[in-house]
Amino acid sequence: MEHFLEGKVDWDVNSLGITDEELQKKAVPRAFSPSASKASAACMARFALDRFVPRPFDPLSPADIGTIAHSIFEELFNEKSVNRTRKRGNELFKHVTQDALKNDELHKYFTENPDDQTLWRSLIIKACSGLFTIFNPSEVEVIGTEEKLYNVQLGGVDMIGYIDLLLEEDESLVIWDYKTGKYMPEASRFGDCEHDTQQRLYFAALICQGRNVSGANLAYTSEGKARKVNTDETKVADDVKHFAENYATLLQCQKQNSYPNKTGVLCGWCPYVKACPAAQMSVNVKYSRHALDESGDATGKAYNVDELF
Ligand code: SF4
Repeated sequence: MEHFLEGKVDWDVNSLGITDEELQKKAVPRAFSPSASKASAACMARFALDRFVPRPFDPLSPADIGTIAHSIFEELFNEKSVNRTRKRGNELFKHVTQDALKNDELHKYFTENPDDQTLWRSLIIKACSGLFTIFNPSEVEVIGTEEKLYNVQLGGVDMIGYIDLLLEEDESLVIWDYKTGKYMPEASRFGDCEHDTQQRLYFAALICQGRNVSGANLAYTSEGKARKVNTDETKVADDVKHFAENYATLLQCQKQNSYPNKTGVLCGWCPYVKACPAAQMSVNVKYSRHALDESGDATGKAYNVDELF
């Protein structure tokens, strides 16, 4: 990892260039997701690197814990309504974690780090623990789980995404998205919450498919909290516009082979911070005690920046 970028990039204080032709092609996805839109707007250089730099294997990362929690929820909501009980949820927790442990890499990791297995289980439990506080899974009408959105264009851009849970309420569809990190309000001093933007884009995608969708909700499953997303027409149209603009900017960066660095508070959580010329020049960049999950939630787990580059 330390020398991974050698000979592959030309990185200066302004922007990142990719010198390896094969990696250049990887820097821009053919179909754009709401999370990719968010990440590219945050820092193009980091976005391009994330497309091809291998991620260190870390089963305790918020993203990996979230993936396991999502699998448990998916299996639970795929059960007949009468079976979507706490008891079944506990059985699925055992089933999904045992299945995950069949993965050679994970098995090897826990053989080398035996204490982490207990932590891994407790992080998964914490991530799932508030689901039944939010709603009774037996009382909802499930239309789909992990529903893939494809063949949808938003603002002329091919969009890709997965809707965690699609319910029917009063003869129309309602989107639900699980967030296993900490609760985030609709807006902060940084603007609208990205969780809401993501759901508005899914909402727009379903409308494009001609489906009768009436709303979107966020379920913060570790905290047992939920909230409704504002899906007013102007908000949705704004988000679609920014989504298309972000993709157009990314294509432009690829054409010029120049992905600007964008230093800021998030650099402290960036895995490339020690290799980034702009961050190293900036007096404002500090390494954080906290890492972020994919949605930007602080989690208390730090990247070990010394192991990268
Ligand atoms: S350290 Fe900051 S500027 Fe550099 S790539 Fe990461 S997010 Fe971008």
